[in-house]
Amino acid sequence: MSKKILVWFRNDLRLHDNEMLVEAIAKSDSILPVYILDRRSFGETKYGTLKTGNIRAQFILESVLGLRSSLKQIGGNLLIAEGNPEDIIPQLAQEYEITEVYHHREVAREETHVSTLVENALWKLRINLKHFIGHTLYNKEDLPFPIKDIPDAFNQFKKKIERDSMIKPCFAAPDRINVAEVIDWGVLSSLEELNLLPQQKDQRADFEFVGGEAEGLAHLQKVIAAMQQAATTKNLILASKLSAWLAMGSLSPRKVYWEIKKMEGVPNTKAMFNHILLGLLWRDYFRFMFKKYGNTFFSPDGFGSQGLIDVVNEQDNFNKWKNAQTGFAVVDAVMTELNQTGFISNIARQTAALYLINNLEVSWVFGAAYFEEKLIDYNPASNWGNWANVAGVGNDQKSKSVFDLDKNIKNLDPKGNYSLTWAS
Ligand SMILES: Cc1cc2nc3c(=O)[nH]c(=O)nc-3n(C[C@H](O)[C@H](O)[C@H](O)COP(=O)(O)OP(=O)(O)OC[C@H]3O[C@@H](n4cnc5c(N)ncnc54)[C@H](O)[C@@H]3O)c2cc1C
Repeated sequence: MSKKILVWFRNDLRLHDNEMLVEAIAKSDSILPVYILDRRSFGETKYGTLKTGNIRAQFILESVLGLRSSLKQIGGNLLIAEGNPEDIIPQLAQEYEITEVYHHREVAREETHVSTLVENALWKLRINLKHFIGHTLYNKEDLPFPIKDIPDAFNQFKKKIERDSMIKPCFAAPDRINVAEVIDWGVLSSLEELNLLPQQKDQRADFEFVGGEAEGLAHLQKVIAAMQQAATTKNLILASKLSAWLAMGSLSPRKVYWEIKKMEGVPNTKAMFNHILLGLLWRDYFRFMFKKYGNTFFSPDGFGSQGLIDVVNEQDNFNKWKNAQTGFAVVDAVMTELNQTGFISNIARQTAALYLINNLEVSWVFGAAYFEEKLIDYNPASNWGNWANVAGVGNDQKSKSVFDLDKNIKNLDPKGNYSLTWAS
């Protein structure tokens, strides 16, 4: 019997640096690349927010179609289905006589739960689900400590990992692929079919996020060009805006690292290099912390012991914050920017979060749920991990005291005109 591997794409929508794909091609006669649109990711949360808002939904659809077109360019295609992976993957496995299923391991509870359901269903068919690691800069296997011993303090984590670990080279993108014979490769739902409306463009938005590997790689080259320009003009632009492509896996963190590393030695580029690298380390840190502690990050208590305090007007205050009607100009401007574009800078995120938690006395979990709906770059570990940190209930006790709303506002809006420019 010929060996056919089903490659289940999730948040890893790329050909470059994709070990799962490289291995599937090497170890099979043909592969079946599959993406499943799981409607549960578009439902409502217990906080009255959507799991995925219109801006990220659009980006996801573009990213999936981007992967299909990347696969077509090397002689393949992407089978697109809609429903529950735990139902569809076993069906496809039987229909196409699949011998093994490959996927990337996730860390947050809903995603890992779906993996377990798929694994159990495949097990009944005596088919193995093989897990790959491909979302981080450093591989779990290459860490100088087991997951349970990863330092909770970010600074220690960074110091040790930089001293004792190495960043692997990227896997080359395949240039040819042999896919299973499929009669109907399926169509992807539109935004409207997901009951979402397209976002109207706001004139203040000076940046357009378009999903897909090709767009992500092109944006990475723009970041490098900006680094080169900064080398001569000394006009540093620190926010790379790479996060949305990283979140969908259309860009691999290793690819980002090795590309920006090519700038090493070019004068005046070190600050930007260090800034992006620091961001990628934070990203790894939260992922590994999710692996270490799992669901604790989703609990209102987090790693604290204060318990949920019942606050009068919590829902009213939450609504004002969401709708940019707090009366506090910078926060309202930041929330308008988030609502209109799906992206705000790190400092703007911290500012909005601090104001919600400290000034409006709303539990941070409501804010995290709202960011989950709105952010174009949402990923569970970075979002819930950062929110828990800002709320002071994260696992890194040292980070409790570093957040300061007044200082943030001075940095974010030194001229008091943020609402006009969104200069993030
Ligand atoms: C309350 C709150 C919620 C957040 N939610 C998310 C989220 O859902 N998804 C997300 O990707 N980031 C999240 N962040 C982290 C950070 O704000 C964004 O990653 C960053 O602003 C994206 O912009 P950039 O691509 O220009 O980042 P850069 O500053 O250019 O950094 C390069 C990359 O490093 C990563 N990164 C940078 N800072 C962080 C950080 N603090 N934590 C984790 N990763 C980081 C991102 O992938 C980013 O693209 C959150 C931060 C806060 C304070």
